Amino acid sequence: MRYSPRRPAGGRAPDRTGRPVERLLAERLAAALARPAAQQPDWPDRAVVRAVVDRLRTATPVVAPAETAQLSERLAAVARGEAFLLQGGDCAETFADHTAAHLRANLGLLKRMALVFTHATGLPVVPLARAAGQYAKPRSQQVDAQGLPVYRGDIVNGVEPTSAARTPDPARMLRAQANAVETMALARRLCRGELGDPHALHAENLRFVRDSPAGGRYAPAVEEIGRSLRLLAGLGASGRTARQSEIYVSHEALLLDYESALLRVDESGPEPLLSSGLAHFLWIGERTRAPQDAHIAFAELLANPIGLKIGPGTTPEQAVEYVHRLDPHGTPGRLTLISRMGHDRVRDVLPPIVEKVTASGHQVVWQCDPMHGNSRTTESGYKTRAFDHVLEEITGFLDVHRRLGTHPGGLHLEATGEDVTECLGGARGIAEHDLPARYLTACDPRLNAEQSMELAFTVAELFARRTPPRPERPR
Ligand code: PEP
Ligand code: MN
Repeated sequence: MRYSPRRPAGGRAPDRTGRPVERLLAERLAAALARPAAQQPDWPDRAVVRAVVDRLRTATPVVAPAETAQLSERLAAVARGEAFLLQGGDCAETFADHTAAHLRANLGLLKRMALVFTHATGLPVVPLARAAGQYAKPRSQQVDAQGLPVYRGDIVNGVEPTSAARTPDPARMLRAQANAVETMALARRLCRGELGDPHALHAENLRFVRDSPAGGRYAPAVEEIGRSLRLLAGLGASGRTARQSEIYVSHEALLLDYESALLRVDESGPEPLLSSGLAHFLWIGERTRAPQDAHIAFAELLANPIGLKIGPGTTPEQAVEYVHRLDPHGTPGRLTLISRMGHDRVRDVLPPIVEKVTASGHQVVWQCDPMHGNSRTTESGYKTRAFDHVLEEITGFLDVHRRLGTHPGGLHLEATGEDVTECLGGARGIAEHDLPARYLTACDPRLNAEQSMELAFTVAELFARRTPPRPERPR
């Protein structure tokens, strides 16, 4: 198995005929993939899948190992309470929205929210996009209301309701991978350019304050950010630091044929593992985390920092079991536990989990996904979420961590910089009858730009109050 001609010296793809370490990892990978795996497509022809995977093995990696290593360091700081993790983007990327404008809108939003957080808390924010490979979707049903195979994301089949479109097509994996390479390249460029410039981000936040009905409430905060930037400028600093230009990408490690194609041996850690060339950060979803199944076994083999979604059915014992398996060496920030409990459950379900994991001595990142436990379908058939429920789950998450003295490490949002009407509420009071106007998501409803900024201003203050600033040590 080759990774690519661009792999760094020392990085080798696991090879069943190669060195002992490569053989061992290739065998462990094969054993993981031989386990039962939920949510995989019913490909019509395995021979075509094998041919596609062979091509993926020599494709250009999406991410560089040095970037992934940098993210691991950043997440260790989050786990120690010295930084925040802000993850966000589309529920599902689509081929149709593979445009510079869409990426610019989503990344710009993430970086503008990060600026607000950093100002409120005095802590660095690690920006992690749901992008450059967030194409595969787990689904609750096998067939849709019309009896067609469900849409499983653009990497598998088409969203159009025809049987031709819904037939899984392995060639889509090649297009997804090529898109991901382009997305990452553009993301790096944008973040080294205008999106790495706090003054430019601030100018956009000023426009938000001017144009949004909620803007007035946040004008003082924005004005303060402006003053801080003027201070920096007066001191001869631009605020354009190397850290400001960082951007990381993530997706759900769902489609195993895809995920297993671009791996390289990484011997930099306490044990040799496999580093994914497809993303800096991968997470395992709520529907594919059965402990004996393939996805968790696959995640155990990864050198990348990983996330695990935990829903309200998770027990403290299960959580600790996951932590032992996914962070066997006690590496701070190696594992992010992404709680998605629902606004009405988080205060009951999360505390014993946090207590038991903390008592285990492992330093995980605690991240709140206030989206996936708060979905509902309207009578007219739109899957949606209420802004107030999103806010309420975050508030509950913060209360739990404040009470237990643990660090509320971050947020995981489905949010877009575009002006969609997919979630209810916010300052503009989007109502059920407004949803059809610009309901554009291919899967779950996203906060729009205005709702996202409103959330950022509101919760940044809450995070600040709950977290005494402990600036990261200069290094
Ligand atoms: C998602 O993040 O889009 C998702 C499917 O989440 P979960 O696994 O938490 O349901
Ligand atoms: Mn989703």
